[in-house]
Amino acid sequence: MGAFRSVSVATLGFPRIGPRRELKTALETYWSGASELTTLLGTAAGLRESTWLCQRDLGADIVPSGDFSFYDHVLDTSVMVGAVPARYDWNGGAVDHATYFAMARGAPGVTAGEMTKWFDTNYHYLVPEFTPDQYFTLAGTKALDEYQEAKRLGIDTRPVLLGPVTFLLLGKMSHGGGDPLALLPRLLPVYAEILSRFAAMGVSWVQMDEPALVLDLSDAARAAFAEAYTYLTQAVPAVQLMLTTYFGALADNLATALALPVHGLHVDLVRAPEQLAQVLEGARPDLVLSLGVIDGRNVWRADLSKLLDHLEPVSLARREIVLAPSCSLLHVPVDLERETALDPDVASWLAFAVQKVTELKVLAVALTDGRDAVRGALEASDRAAASRQVHEKIHDQTVRARVAGMNQTQARRSSSFETRRVQQHESLNLPPFPTTTIGSFPQTPEVRRARAGHARGTLSDAGYTEFLREETARTVRWQEEAGLDVLVHGEFERNDMVQYFGEQLSGFAFTKYGWVQSYGSRCVRPPIIFGDVSRPVPMTVEWWQYAQSLTKRPMKGMLTGPVTILNWSFVRDDQPRSETCFQIAFAIRDEVLDLEKAGAAMIQIDEAALREGLPLRRAGWGRYLQWAVEAFRIASSGVADVTQIHTHMCYSEFNDIIAAIGAMDADVISIETARSKMELLDAFAGYAYPAEIGPGVYDIHSPRTPAVGEMVTLLEAARTRLKDDQIWVNPDCGLKTRKWDEVEPAIANMVAAARALRG
Ligand code: GLN
Ligand code: ZN
Repeated sequence: MGAFRSVSVATLGFPRIGPRRELKTALETYWSGASELTTLLGTAAGLRESTWLCQRDLGADIVPSGDFSFYDHVLDTSVMVGAVPARYDWNGGAVDHATYFAMARGAPGVTAGEMTKWFDTNYHYLVPEFTPDQYFTLAGTKALDEYQEAKRLGIDTRPVLLGPVTFLLLGKMSHGGGDPLALLPRLLPVYAEILSRFAAMGVSWVQMDEPALVLDLSDAARAAFAEAYTYLTQAVPAVQLMLTTYFGALADNLATALALPVHGLHVDLVRAPEQLAQVLEGARPDLVLSLGVIDGRNVWRADLSKLLDHLEPVSLARREIVLAPSCSLLHVPVDLERETALDPDVASWLAFAVQKVTELKVLAVALTDGRDAVRGALEASDRAAASRQVHEKIHDQTVRARVAGMNQTQARRSSSFETRRVQQHESLNLPPFPTTTIGSFPQTPEVRRARAGHARGTLSDAGYTEFLREETARTVRWQEEAGLDVLVHGEFERNDMVQYFGEQLSGFAFTKYGWVQSYGSRCVRPPIIFGDVSRPVPMTVEWWQYAQSLTKRPMKGMLTGPVTILNWSFVRDDQPRSETCFQIAFAIRDEVLDLEKAGAAMIQIDEAALREGLPLRRAGWGRYLQWAVEAFRIASSGVADVTQIHTHMCYSEFNDIIAAIGAMDADVISIETARSKMELLDAFAGYAYPAEIGPGVYDIHSPRTPAVGEMVTLLEAARTRLKDDQIWVNPDCGLKTRKWDEVEPAIANMVAAARALRG
């Protein structure tokens, strides 16, 4: 030792929505016309200020700016570089708020941009749109303005930019296609201009987010990184760049990253701890390494002593290191302190954004001053880690034994689909082209009000149940009148398709304020799976029984599948995700069998999020799909041949996973197809998918009533790809977000379309 060493703490981004979702409220009030722009701007400035001060006061040496966003940071980047599609009639000057929000949400006469998932998170970004003759210009100074805003508050921040290569790779080319990377030479001067303006303001470091470096990249994309960073470091030598990668290992892109002439490299050591050795071996001595050691994607408290065992040798070997979360803290809730209603044991195992910054500070102090300087904090972390290993709330031997004893018989129906189908058709006796819906019916203001009243205690248990029974009964009657063949109970008792089950399963915890941004002002509060999962008592059987008692037509049992429950939760990090998924699968299996025992002839197990769980790298797909399919089969395969298993997936990209869907061995699958004009059924036809399919015949995301003829045309298109006796008729997805006066004519037309085909 002896030589001067530096260990600093950085955050790469902080939740922007506010500890009380202040930004959500301010945005929605502004959008509704009930407040002025200045009010929104004031709230936003207040949030930025408190966020900066909070991070500084927690001990962060490097605090980001520019990570705030009114909607989405990718959209901010599009605006910054003037990538504003022609339909917004932008005049070429500074992009105003009206244009920005039109791009985000649409406006009268103009559609919004397309939204898609940010890597493998549940955050959604607006896909940049380029044209082959796209030019770029500095059209938004938000990044520059926010740096100065912080500086006026006395905080010298490290601005964050989404790097040019990832930005282009996330975008799409309209009008005739082409490769967005071809636009790089035109984009780089704009980035250089921003960097030189930063330099003029005295900025020393800029965080350049390039998470695309953890993806499978073409040689052209790798070359683009070299081109971009050679250009930028030469154009603006005064600003040092922290090339920031996250969400996985650099792996085959590591050599590319290490060869870039940047001053710092951030690596994700939570998702990919194994890459540390290679990074250390390959990094130039003067490269500042930023080590993402605290999980920015999950809510668990870190095991600080264990981390220090790994970090101490590194800090001795390198002159300068930065400790950081693995990625922006955008993906975790703000502050655990507010969760006063949480089980104290569970709370002792958790860390939200605020707590994570403190953890980093403890690590940094231990590395510079020795572990004794933070003895108390380390002991508390040790205690939490030790308690998680043995605590009875986490470890349930019965559950573990059940998963360990899992066998192939449990994951297989007793007969092949061909045999099952004969029995099912005989017992169900449905008409050709049977009609059904995906499960939910409108969650009207009255339904929401009743649920809120019940949660507050102003509506009694009995009063709430009575309300739900009436709503269910009305919906069952209405479905009969509408002429649907297979009915649903409507899901009025469910707040959310995962939370409803999580609240009834052991091993799950729920927060009060644990909101995480999903898109724009939309936030979700994912359940926390902290322990072994089991199902103490039936969850849906009573509602199913009640609904079935009201009709002679078949009533579908309605469940959420294990993979979807897993993918929409914060999942424990002390065992493989697959293990947790199998535990959930057995809990759902118990429910499936109880529904069957109660008399359900059809049970639908929704796997809306199965595709979302695909790993970022193709090499990981096979393994994921294997256990995901296995989990679905554990959940669904306990039933008799005559019991019909349905599943539902509300998306339309099936080409990559069609074999896995086949392997799920459901009897009926309903999918989203209306917008793709049934073309995606080619995947099913090409694969010779044997089972029955309900290709959605109308887009439930739109309030428009589709005409009978339109749906007949779609069904005719389906008939060219599938056999008639494979086809079901249903909407794309559940109807909970629609109004009854939209649902009623749409379903009436859908039934008429099915009848026209039968005719
Ligand atoms: N059964 C659910 C519903 O209809 C399915 C929702 C979904 O797939 N997202 O609401
Ligand atoms: Zn759906």
